[in-house]
Amino acid sequence: MRIAIYLRVSTEMQVEDGYSLRAQRATLIEYCKANEYSVSDIYMDEGISAKDTNRPQLQRLLDDATKGLFDAVLVHKFDRFTRSVKDLYELLGYLKLHGVSFISKQEKFDTSNAMGMAMLGMLGVFAQFERELIGERVRFGMEQKVKEGKKPNGQFPYGYDKEGNIIPEEAEIIRLVRHMYMKEQMGFKTIAMRLIDKGITRRGSTWRASTVSFTLSNTFYAGIIQFGNRMENGKYAGHRKELRKGVIHEKGIYEAIFTEEEFFEHLRYMRSRSVSGYSRKREYFFTGLLRCGRCGASMFGKLTHSVPNKDGVVKKRMYYVCSTRRDNNTCKMPTIQQNHIEHLLMKYISDIAIEKSLTAAEKKKSDNQNEAREKLIQKLKRDLDSVRNRVKKWQFMFIEELVTADDLRSRLAVEYETEADILKSLEEAQIRVKESEEIKFKLSTFSQSWNEADDFDKKELLNEMFEEIRVICHIDNPRGYRNGNFFPAELELTYR
Ligand SMILES: [Zn+2]
Repeated sequence: MRIAIYLRVSTEMQVEDGYSLRAQRATLIEYCKANEYSVSDIYMDEGISAKDTNRPQLQRLLDDATKGLFDAVLVHKFDRFTRSVKDLYELLGYLKLHGVSFISKQEKFDTSNAMGMAMLGMLGVFAQFERELIGERVRFGMEQKVKEGKKPNGQFPYGYDKEGNIIPEEAEIIRLVRHMYMKEQMGFKTIAMRLIDKGITRRGSTWRASTVSFTLSNTFYAGIIQFGNRMENGKYAGHRKELRKGVIHEKGIYEAIFTEEEFFEHLRYMRSRSVSGYSRKREYFFTGLLRCGRCGASMFGKLTHSVPNKDGVVKKRMYYVCSTRRDNNTCKMPTIQQNHIEHLLMKYISDIAIEKSLTAAEKKKSDNQNEAREKLIQKLKRDLDSVRNRVKKWQFMFIEELVTADDLRSRLAVEYETEADILKSLEEAQIRVKESEEIKFKLSTFSQSWNEADDFDKKELLNEMFEEIRVICHIDNPRGYRNGNFFPAELELTYR
């Protein structure tokens, strides 16, 4: 069996005996020898915590796992690999997917045998439990904040500074948006275009239908802190606000931009214009974005007649079907309800929101992630410096006639290649910091707007935010899932 050894040590642990990289490394190599395993590579993350999986060598290991470079990963103890049950479960699942087993020496845990596989299943249960526990704790913390009239998470919206004080010029634009909507009867998109025409930006970025809708529907502008968006059964309520349970509204401690009367007046108006009254034609708002996760073909909307219910009423439901399946039936992707996709999308976004507020509440995970990324950037910069210094040294040695011209050329070729690699990694690391925060913010805006949007607006919102939405489902024939009890599926989102 070919073994990839993974070692990790945090800075504090470095000094403790037995935890040092050298000690871990020696015992693991010894272990391989005793079991007649061959060591394919050693991956060492030094001075990095296991709070997340954002570790350069761990990432390299996962990468190599996909290339089939080894049959199993060996660690000294679980906590060398990760400290979170959820992460452990996900990492082992990923390795398993690529046919790689996992061995932890201390715990005598080995997924290459049946016992280890059974334990892996149990790990899944604990991972779910851990996740729910964290979610629960975070939700509780946020509720406490709301009860004090404070914003529970994230940044303050446009119109306010970092401390939650009104920025007068921005507040004026927010009032202008309301005026255009109520007095001049413009739609979201028209308002956005009009603002752009007037040269008004939204802190440097351009106005969109989604930001206009968000501006009108955000309770914060009426001095109300709102929290909670789940239904009684724990599912996301989507646009059906009346189904929400446990939503908390508290009078905020911040100055409002709209009076409550104004706010509820335009909110009522928004709702009367939206599709909930069934006055407008319903739209397939995912058309053009949706792709089949199996064959990659586009998915198209179709209306199906369900079997009449006991009152004899036939409900027409909106579905999406894979075009390959529709054309020649070679793809087995099940048809999927529009409501189902909407539910998956909202769940995805609210999970991100929980993670985001988790960081706000505990200031841990995200900080650590950013810290790790920042460390990586610093390390790459140091590497870059040393490569460039080496280049100078080689040149110096050439001048001093210590190396030949051929030697110099081949040495420099290697150094330049390394330099190019480092520059590329550096670029990626820096982009990722920016992107993730921006996307998180956009998503939170998106989900707020979604709640008040009609079908036409939803189409606009989706096209603004996403390039592509891929539907992943591993079941061929999902029967027996009825009435809002959706079959298991996932979405893969590509942002614009
Ligand atoms: Zn398909």
